[in-house]
Amino acid sequence: MVSVEEAIRLVKTNLPNSTYELIYLSSALNKVLSKDLISKINMPPFHQSSMDGYAVNLSADIKSYKLVGEIAAGGSASEFDLKQGEAVRIFTGAKVPKGANAVIQQELVYSKEKTIAFKETVPAGKNIRLKGEQTTIGQIAMNKGDRITPAAIGFLAGLGITEVEVFKKPKLSILATGDELVSPGDLLPEGKIYESNTIMLSSAIKHSGYECVKSSTVEDTYDATKSAIEALLSSSDVILISGGISVGDYDFVGHALKEIGVKEIFYKVKQKPGKPLFFGSYNDKLLFALPGNPAAALSCFYIYVLTALEIMSGKSDGLEITQLKLIEEYSKKGGRAQFLKAKIEGERVRVLEGQSSSMLHTFSGANGLVYVPENTTVLEAGNTVSVYKLP
Ligand code: AMP
Ligand code: MG
Repeated sequence: MVSVEEAIRLVKTNLPNSTYELIYLSSALNKVLSKDLISKINMPPFHQSSMDGYAVNLSADIKSYKLVGEIAAGGSASEFDLKQGEAVRIFTGAKVPKGANAVIQQELVYSKEKTIAFKETVPAGKNIRLKGEQTTIGQIAMNKGDRITPAAIGFLAGLGITEVEVFKKPKLSILATGDELVSPGDLLPEGKIYESNTIMLSSAIKHSGYECVKSSTVEDTYDATKSAIEALLSSSDVILISGGISVGDYDFVGHALKEIGVKEIFYKVKQKPGKPLFFGSYNDKLLFALPGNPAAALSCFYIYVLTALEIMSGKSDGLEITQLKLIEEYSKKGGRAQFLKAKIEGERVRVLEGQSSSMLHTFSGANGLVYVPENTTVLEAGNTVSVYKLP
């Protein structure tokens, strides 16, 4: 049995080497760059007007300017080379012609036939986005380790980039064990319950930006459990097993994992919920055997599994942890750390009623997990606690 801190450390230090892939920018959202990205163009590619108005060859002593033409967005400016006192009609995004040193917006201009005059003085450089002001040819546009957000996708598309090299995200599969499980939608015979862990975990996986490639259930027999786990080892990088990892007579997961040759990294964590958590590896695959109790399974997903997934995908950690003040006092026994379903309310946090590891009812109304360390027994109202922010 390990402490929570040790379990988290063991997860972080027993991950397979990262792998990379070249993918289309259109599928790169939320992935992480695996190398620096060098711009092949200047951004913007030319001096660009940021206003609808007039590009002028400005001089302090000239009050009215002669209009010599027009440049719309996307148009060429090569035919122009403005002399003193000359101006061209120009529109937002258009290339500023040679000889122009400012753009005056049209609202600030009196125009009459082919001349314009200004309603106020215009400083040189006004309303011109300088060539290369965002990035220049050969410069690092984005760094290795940067996450690809929608804004980053727009920025990179603007640089003409269509493919990026990113950390490959691990693919997951889920196996739920239990003779008592019936699919939602079917009749519920006596003694059975609806199977909810596969859909819950696959939703958590999807919500966190990962893919669950296979999800299945298996009866509580040793042979079926062993072959179901073996089948998943070939199709995914990370395998989540739900239930069957405790010490009951029908818990066959531990035995099956051992027989398959899965290396145990830890089994059992001094925590509530989720004490019978198993973490192991098989070649470069990871296996988490999560407790069957739904709220415990989901807590373990967020605290351990997600941390592994995020680091394998190039991020530095799992869920964000924030420090907040407890609204009400809380006490527990020593010996086991706790992850408490909680509601973050601004700068404060409220521990919710109903912390049993089977209670998804409480979890579904929570937006945080308060972490109470192993040896802490009493927390007063107003004490600062660490809170995992749920996505
Ligand atoms: P186990 O870890 O297999 O001993 O299961 C612990 C508790 O979780 C039992 O009450 C199970 O019925 C319940 N449970 C196990 N697997 C699931 C599942 N896939 N969906 C809903 N409840 C489950
Ligand atoms: Mg079971």
